[in-house]
Amino acid sequence: MTERFTIGDSDVLLVVDIQNDFCPGGNLAVPQGDEIVPVINGMAAKFAHVVLTQDWHPRGHLSFASSHPGKKPYETIEVAYGTQVLWPDHCVQGTAGADFRSDLKTPHAELVLRKGYHRDIDSYSAFYENDRTTRTGLAGYLRERGFRRVFLAGLAFDFCVRYSAEDACREGFEATVIEDACRGIDVDGSMAATRELFKSLGIRCIPASAIAAGLATT
Ligand SMILES: [Zn+2]
Repeated sequence: MTERFTIGDSDVLLVVDIQNDFCPGGNLAVPQGDEIVPVINGMAAKFAHVVLTQDWHPRGHLSFASSHPGKKPYETIEVAYGTQVLWPDHCVQGTAGADFRSDLKTPHAELVLRKGYHRDIDSYSAFYENDRTTRTGLAGYLRERGFRRVFLAGLAFDFCVRYSAEDACREGFEATVIEDACRGIDVDGSMAATRELFKSLGIRCIPASAIAAGLATT
């Protein structure tokens, strides 16, 4: 029997990058990425506290293959902070691709955290940019708000959800991933690597059905 998680006032749902470009029809579509939106909507209603992240790149961003002559999407390059996967142009600031999906229903979200806005640093994680030292400010925000458990959902399981869960853990929060509310892209075995990493860090993967509304939610 799956353990039940009763959601209270020190719990927050972190909804990662539910944006048009990451869903079918978008520039960097995660297969079946759109299928998780109703799952997230149903789950978000059980949380009093919801935070959304939004990938938000300037034109000519370092992570775009188009910024590197001769390079193709999904190839890698070495940059100042290490290896960077190159992506199709996506989530460019102010474009429709960067908008949240119109069917995402989280009107009570308390914070929209934008990431990836530094031209020369990508940011998979909601907590740290890819140089692993530049902070987004989210850990401070969550601590000031008194949250202790972070539940994660969104796109993509093996990139932005993975790094966000890992960093939530690193920042001292209890991180739990709602697996059926995520979809992945699987670049070079990244799905399996993510599951291994979660296991080694004690990050649980649970189904959305294990989430129960607590007294703190209305
Ligand atoms: Zn991006």
